[in-house]
Amino acid sequence: MTSLLVDRIGLLITNDPARGDGPLGLRRDAALIFDGGRVAWVGVASAAPAADRRLDAGGRCVLPGFVDSHTHLVFAGDRALEFTARMTGRPYAAGGIATTVAATRAATDEALVARAFALAYEALEAGTTTLEVKSGYGLTVADEVRSLRVAGALTGDTTYLGAHVVPPEYAGRADDYVALVAGEMLAACAPLARWADVFCDEGAFDADQARTVLTAARASGLGLRVHANQLARGPGVALAVELGAASADHCTYLSVADVDALAGSDTVATLLPGAEFSTRAPYPDGRRLLDAGVTVALASDCNPGSSYTTNLPFCIAVAVREMGLTPDEAVWAATAGGARALRRDDVGHLGVGARADAVILDAPAHLHLAYRPGVPLVHTVVRGGDVVVGPG
Ligand SMILES: [Zn+2]
Repeated sequence: MTSLLVDRIGLLITNDPARGDGPLGLRRDAALIFDGGRVAWVGVASAAPAADRRLDAGGRCVLPGFVDSHTHLVFAGDRALEFTARMTGRPYAAGGIATTVAATRAATDEALVARAFALAYEALEAGTTTLEVKSGYGLTVADEVRSLRVAGALTGDTTYLGAHVVPPEYAGRADDYVALVAGEMLAACAPLARWADVFCDEGAFDADQARTVLTAARASGLGLRVHANQLARGPGVALAVELGAASADHCTYLSVADVDALAGSDTVATLLPGAEFSTRAPYPDGRRLLDAGVTVALASDCNPGSSYTTNLPFCIAVAVREMGLTPDEAVWAATAGGARALRRDDVGHLGVGARADAVILDAPAHLHLAYRPGVPLVHTVVRGGDVVVGPG
C-alpha cells in the first residue's frame, strides 16, 4: 500500500481537540498523510513530509467520514404509498413494518444483497464511511440469519433486531415470539452479530419483553442498543441506561428522569431526524440533551417505512434547523458521536492512528452542510486510504 498526502486543506476537522481548536479540533492550512489504511500524520501543510501520491484538496474543507450508527438496509419493497397517505394526515404506527417483513421474506438472496449494496453505495457517495446495519425484516430464524449474512457483507457492526415487531403469525402470542427471539433465534443469530437491539415502544415490545431479549443477548456476548421513546414516553431509555446499552435511539419523547439517566451514563442518545421528518412527528429536543451533558449522535435510520434516506448531510441540516444543535455539534454528532454510539475509537476522527476515512467537501467549511441544505457538497470520499468517490 502506498501513502497518500492530502494537502491544501483550507479547513480540517480532526475531532481531536489535541490537534486543533475546540471540540472539532479545527486546523487551517492543514495536510494529512494516510498510510497503511490509517492516518499517519496531521499538521501544517508547509511541514508535510513526502508521500507516494498527492491529493490536492484545493482549499476545501476536510472532515472525518460520517459514521451512520443506525440503519436498516436489508429489506425488499418500498412504502412510498404509505408515506404519501401519511402526508395526507394519517399518523405513523409501528405495524407498517409488517408490510416490509412480507416483502423481505419473499425476496431472493440476490435481491436483498443488491438493494443493501446499492443503499450502502448511496450512503458512501454522501460521505458515510462507517455503517451499522440491522436485521429485523425477517423475523423467522432463517430470515433473520439471512438478513445478518447480508448485513455482514457490508459491515462488522451488524445488529440482531429479531425484536423489531411481533410478526403476523404470532399475533396475540407476543410472549411466545419473545421466547423465540431470546432463545433459538438468538442462538442462530449471535455468531453473525456484534449488537442486539429491541424496538421498545408503543405498539412494539414492552419493558419486560425488551428486558428478556436484551439480557439474553448480553449473556450471548452481544452489545446492546435500544429503539427507545420514539412514539411515546416509555421505559426504553431507562432500560437502555440500566442495562448499559451503547445507544438509546430516537429519544423523541423524554421525561426529566430519562434526560438525567442519559446524562449520568455512557449510553449515547442517537437522534434520527429523518424519522421525524418522514413521519411528520415532533422533533426531539437535542439542545436539552446537549445542555444536560448527554452525548448525542446523529444517524439516518434508513428504512423503507419511516426514514428512507441514507444522507447524513440532510440529517445534519435538519438537526440544526429543528433540534437545536449548532452546526459544529451536528457535524460532531454525525462523525465522532456515531463512533461513540458504536463504541469505536478508530473512526469518527482524524487523529494519528485513526482509520483513513475522510470526506472533502466542495465548500470552505463544515458549516455549509447545514447552511446549504439539499446541495450535494461531498466532493471526494477516502475510505481506508483509497479514493472511493470523486477524482481518483
Ligand atoms: Zn430504526
